[in-house]
Amino acid sequence: MARHCFVLVLVALLCLVGLLETSPGDADPVYRSCVEQCEKTGCVGGKCFQHCNFSADGNPVDGPWYLQEPLYIQWKQWDCRSDCRYHCMLYREEERQKLGQKPIKYHGKWPFKRVYGIQEPVSVALSALNLAVQFHGWVSFYILVNYKLPFRSNKKTYYEYTGLWNIYALFAMNAWFWSAVFHSRDVDLTEKLDYSSAVALLGYSLILSIIRAFSVRLEAVRVMVAAPLLAFVTTHILYLNFYKLDYGWNMKVCVAMGILQLLVWSIWAGVTHHPSRWKLWVVVLGGALAMLLEIYDFPPYWDLVDAHALWHAATIPLAYLWWSFVRADSEFRTSILIKKTK
Ligand SMILES: [Zn+2]
Repeated sequence: MARHCFVLVLVALLCLVGLLETSPGDADPVYRSCVEQCEKTGCVGGKCFQHCNFSADGNPVDGPWYLQEPLYIQWKQWDCRSDCRYHCMLYREEERQKLGQKPIKYHGKWPFKRVYGIQEPVSVALSALNLAVQFHGWVSFYILVNYKLPFRSNKKTYYEYTGLWNIYALFAMNAWFWSAVFHSRDVDLTEKLDYSSAVALLGYSLILSIIRAFSVRLEAVRVMVAAPLLAFVTTHILYLNFYKLDYGWNMKVCVAMGILQLLVWSIWAGVTHHPSRWKLWVVVLGGALAMLLEIYDFPPYWDLVDAHALWHAATIPLAYLWWSFVRADSEFRTSILIKKTK
């Protein structure tokens, strides 16, 4: 039953991958000229921003000499650009609403209302919660394998995937940290850090899924599995950072890597006699459904909660269950290996 459901979800997902598009907002000519104008004058309509107070050659008009360093100017230009984009978006959305048009995305995001200068407060809070759940999961796993379960005679854990899960925890916590930063203020740097961290996490967890599901224990085989994927993910991250931050293409890469690992886990869950395979099933099905939120991307309710925020909410219970599976897996493998050595 669960398997049929899952196949249906997968087919739906695969069909949708082809339909993904980029943000139409940044291409809107009115919005573009508004931002361009604002970055020169520092004003949108009647509103002006103090962050845009630098002269044409890039030097700040006021302020002491030690603040006129390049880094400071960069920060100021970032702040100026972000203020300009935000107010031009509000201005444009107001106009569109009057014309009875639906909201569109700007720079990969729906129009949100800032709260205390935080762009997407709901996504920030949920990212922080995700970070906390990942940290809790990792610590509990660490304590289990290092203090509760027995060691081999060479003082290593019986569980063959300890190191891989520790690295996974680092990737996951790094990704949620930058997600929280990015959702609080969207500038070029935070955006690239968030996208890169998410791609790195997805790529790494794909490698991990293959190594665990196929029980790859030999170091040489692990390297052979990881190398091509690492090369691809690294190239993709370099492409995003130094060539073009292409939202549509990045979404396709991420969804493809996500679907691949869901497939690997679900096939394994279908054939294995692992005592905790039901946890795998719940995470795979939940993950597939949550991914639909990323794809059926709806604009925010009350200018606050959009599909992406709900996706961040959905990953919280999934991450909790996921680490519980990892702990169960370490106990299961350890008990099998101890029986073998006896
Ligand atoms: Zn996010």
